[in-house]
Amino acid sequence: SPRVGILALQGDVREHEHVLQALGADTLRVRRPEELAQVDALVIPGGESTVIDKLSRTFGLRDPIRAAIADGMPMLGTCAGLIMLADTVIDAIDGQESFGGLDAVVRRNAFGRQVESFEAELVAPGIDGDAVRAAFIRGPVIETVGGSASVLASLPDGRIVGVEQGGLIGLSFHPEISGEDRFHRRLLAAL
Ligand code: GLN
Repeated sequence: SPRVGILALQGDVREHEHVLQALGADTLRVRRPEELAQVDALVIPGGESTVIDKLSRTFGLRDPIRAAIADGMPMLGTCAGLIMLADTVIDAIDGQESFGGLDAVVRRNAFGRQVESFEAELVAPGIDGDAVRAAFIRGPVIETVGGSASVLASLPDGRIVGVEQGGLIGLSFHPEISGEDRFHRRLLAAL
């Protein structure tokens, strides 16, 4: 059966692990290139993108992850993970870089102090079933979706919070903490 890696440098690794295991997936925490080589897909968790970026360089994972993206490995990034998958990051700090792969521009910490964390019902026509209820925790917004990518989810006011391109899925929110498993199912369906 396909094995899904979870980038385990920093962030909410365990929550993703629980969702994936509940769906019957075989999971592996990825901290080294040797572990990346053993997985068929990768989840990049929420957390702090500046830290995930730094640690990915320290652990020698940045270039192998970029190569895996170029090679078409399916990936799901939530919140900081979306930032890591975006081609362009606005309000990046400390020379932070993303892995890239999604033809999209994201703005970090886009929702402002007073609404740093909130829940909302999303518009997501590609997701079958009940409305998607999403938890936002200092999340990024997707300001621009380029021609190679498509919108997967939006807030009712039209702000884009989910994007997809080939096997890559990037979400501004945290399905892994709200019992929402349809995005993980979508990742598994690509395998
Ligand atoms: N603000 C964080 C960042 O810029 C993302 C927050 C999150 O992943 N919940 O990386």
